[in-house]
Amino acid sequence: MNNNTTTSGLTFDIQLSDQRKTPQERDALLVNPGFGQVFTDHMVSIRYTEGKGWHDAKLEPYGPLTLDPATAALHYAQSIFEGLKAYRHPDGTLASFRPESNAARFNRSAARMAMPELPEDLFIRSIELLLEHDGDWVPTKEDFSLYLRPFMFATDVGLGVNNPSRSYLYLLFASPVGSYFSGGIRPVTVWLSKDYTRAAPGGTGAAKFAGNYAASFLAQAQAVEKGCDQVVWLDAREHRMVEEMGGMNLWFVFGSGDKARLRTPPLTGTLLPGITRESLLTLAPDLGIPAEEEPISIEEWREAAESGELTEVFACGTAAVITPVGHVKSDDGEFRIGDGTPGPVTMRLREELVGIQTGLRNDKHGWITRF
Ligand SMILES: *Cc1c(COP(=O)(O)O)cnc(C)c1O
Repeated sequence: MNNNTTTSGLTFDIQLSDQRKTPQERDALLVNPGFGQVFTDHMVSIRYTEGKGWHDAKLEPYGPLTLDPATAALHYAQSIFEGLKAYRHPDGTLASFRPESNAARFNRSAARMAMPELPEDLFIRSIELLLEHDGDWVPTKEDFSLYLRPFMFATDVGLGVNNPSRSYLYLLFASPVGSYFSGGIRPVTVWLSKDYTRAAPGGTGAAKFAGNYAASFLAQAQAVEKGCDQVVWLDAREHRMVEEMGGMNLWFVFGSGDKARLRTPPLTGTLLPGITRESLLTLAPDLGIPAEEEPISIEEWREAAESGELTEVFACGTAAVITPVGHVKSDDGEFRIGDGTPGPVTMRLREELVGIQTGLRNDKHGWITRF
């Protein structure tokens, strides 16, 4: 079948899988897909070569790649990614939340890693094309969605370490995902990491760069060893100022009821600028809850939790949307936030945001793109 389609001067070649799952096989996989374990029938790929630009755009069957052992990304980690979701709205249409923000952040990550930028219309078209062919994989069940994973890595073959690659591969594939919280929302316990650093000034912390995550696994393992679910990263210099969680930004709720106000650490260059974080900076004031970007130290965190001034803490990101934080542990002991259960401000923001994403609430900021 040939059903070519053109964007940004590029024509996508359409190569359909002859091993597509049947509707019955697909439905069986959608019952309990886990997170990032099940993949749809196709993927999109686009190649880049210096001098030639982006070329060889296609939709092709999802499947393994063949790589030369000397492929640059495997050695020097020139590799970036994005994460966003497609939702099935009540009227049956497919939608995603602020995909143009993911496209823009992808290009900021690319620039930091000396990689080529992908024209935003190509990024968006790749999503549209994959949903055109694999849209039946977007789950209908509440709290389920199709997680989209665009990424790009260096494909030059050779061990020269002094220069960025001159060729790259952009890929997009998709994975149906269930609720992060099977069995209800459970507040997490976090470990304040003083032994390790995620990001330093001038480093790569603001990029969705693969190496940032490899560098975090040991600290995450330590958090688990200490009986915690997640690591909280602190500033590189003093390990005092709160930065973020492993893959989510952090929010602090001071006061309660009409007096509740929100605070999140500012984007100093070492934090990942989350799109969920940015959306909450707008959404909270819409709901009458002031939200500010101000630093918070671990001493203030503890003192405000103990005095009761700090009433709730939660983390936010695409994968789990909003996750309450119930307990905090560190070398200096542990403390609880509120009564350790999900707080009303956390749950209200969660409901509002999920409502917009899934088409149940009015999208007054134009955050939804329909496909
Ligand atoms: C992706 C990510 C986030 C959250 O970003 P969203 O755009 O809200 O999904 C936060 N921190 C880190 C380290 C991340 O990789």
